[in-house]
Amino acid sequence: MLADRGVGEWGFAALVEADGRRLLYDAGYRPETVLENARELGIDLSTVTDVVLSHHHGDHAGGLVTLRRELAKTNSAALSRIHVAPGMFLSRRCPAEMASAPMGSCGFFGAEVGGDREANPTIAMKRELEAGGATFIEHGSATELMPGVWVTGPVPRRYPERNWNPAIRIVTPGGMVPDSVPEDMSLVINTDKGLVVLTGCGHAGIVNIVEYARRVAGPSPVYAVVGGLHLFAAKDDALAWTADKLRVAGLVDLLGAHCTGVEAVFRIRQLAGLSRKTAVVGAVGSSFDVDRGIDPLALAQ
Ligand SMILES: [Zn+2]
Ligand SMILES: [Zn+2]
Repeated sequence: MLADRGVGEWGFAALVEADGRRLLYDAGYRPETVLENARELGIDLSTVTDVVLSHHHGDHAGGLVTLRRELAKTNSAALSRIHVAPGMFLSRRCPAEMASAPMGSCGFFGAEVGGDREANPTIAMKRELEAGGATFIEHGSATELMPGVWVTGPVPRRYPERNWNPAIRIVTPGGMVPDSVPEDMSLVINTDKGLVVLTGCGHAGIVNIVEYARRVAGPSPVYAVVGGLHLFAAKDDALAWTADKLRVAGLVDLLGAHCTGVEAVFRIRQLAGLSRKTAVVGAVGSSFDVDRGIDPLALAQ
């Protein structure tokens, strides 16, 4: 969202490096954003074979077709293995009467508004990517993708955090039902300092995600949370509850990117006892390193 360099947009992508192995988590919104930002940051994505899509929204999946097409010119295996969770390809609609509901804009998510148009952009993307030789791997439960690096699969919704867009509907045989984004999938990295949790949009709820991460990867403290927490519109009491749960989980570093919200990052900083160095708004090219902490770059420092 913020950008010192490169292009900022309503979207998310992160490159994960663990023990010399890399994978991409989400792919940005507009077709060229991540491709151009990676070039500008001097990052070669052509050797990355695996990509995890956190969920179906266009602001996380929108760049993948272009990335795969361009990177495959260098390495045919680039981004050829695409990890998702069940529910990813369910048919969605954004009914016109819902499009202007509070918090209910469909435009942010790349969905088409109204009528009978498909509002899940990944259905068409899947066809195109498979035609180009890519494979989708669906994770119905937590899976260790690389040593110590887990995808959660669908995250149980123990707490009613309801961090999703009420405008969008899932099409079922019985009619349309609210889309709680059941496929929302996070990444958990087990490090010497504790767990590092990476979220795309946090639709499962960051507290649900963090608690489930400890069930998946072990009961270590949650040392860091990186990514979108979908708290930009959260009320004060929800932020206080969330911050307290994160504090109890052991949170040391928060790189709150994308839909976390600027104010929410500052509130959590105060409420969870974090500091200017350890609770930072994410920017294009900012990073978290388990030994060196957060590098916020210039604007967000
Ligand atoms: Zn989303
Ligand atoms: Zn998002």
